[in-house]
Amino acid sequence: MKQIKKNHPEYIDACLAWNRAVTKYPNIITFCQTEADVRQAILSIQTHNLPFAIRSGRHHYEGASSCDNGYVIDVSSLQTISIDELKQTVTIGGGVRNRELYESLAEKGYPFPGGGCPSVGVAGFTIGGGWGYSSRLFGLGCDSLQSITLITFDGKTICIDKDHYSDLFWAIRGGGNCEIGIITSLTYALPEKQACATHIFLDIADVTHMQAIHFMIWYQQWFKTLPREINLKTVVYTKNGKNIGIKITGLSYADKQKTQTILDVLVNQLSFETIYFMDGPVIKANRAIQDSHPDWESYTSAGRFSNGQMTESDWQECLELLLKVPIESSYAAFTLYGLGGAIQDVPNEATAFAFRHQQFILGMQIVWEDDAKPTHCYQWFKSSWFIIYKMTSGSFINFPTSLQNEAEYYGQNWTKFQSIRTKYQNV
Ligand SMILES: Cc1cc2nc3c(=O)[nH]c(=O)nc-3n(C[C@H](O)[C@H](O)[C@H](O)COP(=O)(O)OP(=O)(O)OC[C@H]3O[C@@H](n4cnc5c(N)ncnc54)[C@H](O)[C@@H]3O)c2cc1C
Repeated sequence: MKQIKKNHPEYIDACLAWNRAVTKYPNIITFCQTEADVRQAILSIQTHNLPFAIRSGRHHYEGASSCDNGYVIDVSSLQTISIDELKQTVTIGGGVRNRELYESLAEKGYPFPGGGCPSVGVAGFTIGGGWGYSSRLFGLGCDSLQSITLITFDGKTICIDKDHYSDLFWAIRGGGNCEIGIITSLTYALPEKQACATHIFLDIADVTHMQAIHFMIWYQQWFKTLPREINLKTVVYTKNGKNIGIKITGLSYADKQKTQTILDVLVNQLSFETIYFMDGPVIKANRAIQDSHPDWESYTSAGRFSNGQMTESDWQECLELLLKVPIESSYAAFTLYGLGGAIQDVPNEATAFAFRHQQFILGMQIVWEDDAKPTHCYQWFKSSWFIIYKMTSGSFINFPTSLQNEAEYYGQNWTKFQSIRTKYQNV
């Protein structure tokens, strides 16, 4: 177990979050190497009665994995990955990230319903539901989860699955952190082996307002016809507040030829400047998507659910917001993350994730250079938030914002989630 305090030469690096706009300075960061370290760290914190946070991949949008003047328990070194082909499961440590898991599983030919960004922690991703490019074929990340091992804040190890602590197993799939302990391992059912995948990328950097609006209206309807083998993330963006661009990234579990045939109608909607389809082993497509992510950013962002019925005037409002981004912003965007397919095979009440009937997550994001003053960017985000709020319903807990009420993450499952969380917090 390694501890880093404020006077340590590695302290500043040890505080950094993926979102560089998060600046929190804990007193002590404890890097746990083993389950025993995790237990010891929790128990010693209980005796100090200081604030603490649990950290793994450091990707929480708003920095919930750190705290000022308290303790951070970092589990990113819990890196074991164990594949059991007889049982058709994979068991991972609480610190494993998307990249390591994709790479390990690919050696045996398995894909995984993980996220797009390589350095996101799989535990944090999963407990928030876990959206990804494979979700329409294999379900959300939490849908493959079979069990979790967790060390409670009073030092007990518990195993949570459908037969043990079944209410907690319900809550932890899509409910986020229940604030009862630290996950040291997770077991998932393996998806079926896949021989091939295609990475999809389309981009046009300058479209007119009317083109963008017509495209987005068309896209929302067309998306309903898309086979579940394909998922797409479609972004309306501006890099300078003058031009509007449209960018589509996707993954298809079909070869290039079949994928192109299915997406022909999409490609022909606009004069895309980049049209890229690359097929091969699944890991090749995964790597291409992962490698498109920067190592870090300074941003603020959030995600709400959309039923795919945004109107012309809704999109008009989004475009106007993009054209009003402050000069400090280097990039701003509205993004449709595709839902549907296998996500909808599971009922809304089966897990804490209550938005399976929705068509998209509507993401909103503003990014600035590291040395820019973000005050105007935050103002833009706040006023834009209230505009997209009325076009959408419910919020995605993995894309959180403090601008809203916690109940928004749970929809119809809020009362049940709250009562389970309270039950275990009071044990
Ligand atoms: C660039 C980027 C891309 C993203 N892409 C996606 C995406 O494609 N799909 C998606 O669904 N989400 C995505 N996310 C959101 C991401 O899944 C969540 O922020 C998730 O919580 C990150 O987990 P982490 O371990 O990386 O982050 P951390 O900041 O380390 O942890 C976030 C929180 O998760 C909990 N947590 C993490 N590990 C443990 C553990 N072992 N035990 C108990 N609690 C734990 C804690 O409450 C912690 O505060 C993305 C985020 C970013 C910044």
